[in-house]
Amino acid sequence: MSWPPKASDFDELRRTLEWVYAHSPYYTRRFNEVGVIPGDLCDYEDFRRRVPRTAKADLVANQREHPPFGEFLAAPRERFGSLHTSPGPIFIPRLPEEAGGTPVLKESIKAMGVSPGEVAHVTLSYHIMPGGLRLHRAFEEAGCLVINGGTGSSRLQVEVARAWGATVFAGTPSFLANLGDTAREMGLNPREDLRYRVGFSTAEALTPELRHELGETFGIELFDHCGEAQIGPLAGECRTHEGMHLHARDLFCEFLDPESGEPVELGGTGELVATQLGPRALPLVRYAPGDAFKLLSDPCPCGDPSVRLIFVGQVGVIRKIKGVLVHPAQVQRVVSQHPELGRFQIVVDQPEGKRYDRAILRVATSQPPAAPEALKQALAQELKATVLIQMEVELVADADIPEAAGPPRFAEAMVDLRKRHE
Ligand SMILES: [Zn+2]
Repeated sequence: MSWPPKASDFDELRRTLEWVYAHSPYYTRRFNEVGVIPGDLCDYEDFRRRVPRTAKADLVANQREHPPFGEFLAAPRERFGSLHTSPGPIFIPRLPEEAGGTPVLKESIKAMGVSPGEVAHVTLSYHIMPGGLRLHRAFEEAGCLVINGGTGSSRLQVEVARAWGATVFAGTPSFLANLGDTAREMGLNPREDLRYRVGFSTAEALTPELRHELGETFGIELFDHCGEAQIGPLAGECRTHEGMHLHARDLFCEFLDPESGEPVELGGTGELVATQLGPRALPLVRYAPGDAFKLLSDPCPCGDPSVRLIFVGQVGVIRKIKGVLVHPAQVQRVVSQHPELGRFQIVVDQPEGKRYDRAILRVATSQPPAAPEALKQALAQELKATVLIQMEVELVADADIPEAAGPPRFAEAMVDLRKRHE
């Protein structure tokens, strides 16, 4: 699909829903419960207001109750081509004709400037989970010679990548860093003895520091990508490296305000809700993995018209403060620029008798800073510039901030004391 969706995208969505309603016992029941007959849905608004979401927990619970596949299945077992598993465990059977994300990945690979004939070294796990095999197939279809590296055995991987002159790395940035360390231990120079030119980075956050460090080590240009275990690859960077282009044409994607459920405009931040298009062994309708993305509003200079996304974080810890959606990961990016600072909490309240929000950043210092007032002022300014809201800053002791407030989950980083008047 394209984004924002066109009328033809909605037609394709409705055809899929009719098929799912006819074949998947879970969705037949769910649709009947809410009185939805897919053929009668008239437009996207109608779909959004009436068709229920599927949470990851629904899928896990249903597979537990009806092992192994649950009631989501829309095809008999004899028709399955392969079976993937994701942590949970969640079992994901696939029909032989299901492309399984390969076309999405091929588009991302093209955007990296990879040419047919290049040697691609895939280092995601090939075991049980879908990631490694999926990327392997996509690079093969893009005309590359593909090394099935998998995970671990870093010395052997360095030898193989060197012997074959691999120019494309694919995997997590931390494993690439590990290959750099291993190469040095082996007396090699990662820049000269290995020939990685571009890298497909996935499954982990690619921080600016890591991107820079790996660029220095290997002379490699890294491209960030995102996806999700059940719905597959979603988006990838182009050579502009500002956000990831939404390449997932096999999904009907919605980006919804986490609080109101209304679709967000370009420039806004929304929760991803995805419906898989076309027949699937295990179809998912309005599946919400819990990820929030910011949608960039400007067209990309690379010429690709697809919308660009920036991963913001898990939706559960997002709060709307002074009308702006704030995720602790955005604050973390500011705080982590100051080595003397540690974990933090964002306390949101409404002062007695007032209707406006007040936000206080309580941030732990590892040792008393030399100039606390200057540090607090600098932080407040940086937060105003990046998170776009005014926050008061308090410096506190390490022990005052619970460990569960820390990254990557930030479970206790938001303390919302506002009384809701709904
Ligand atoms: Zn671009």
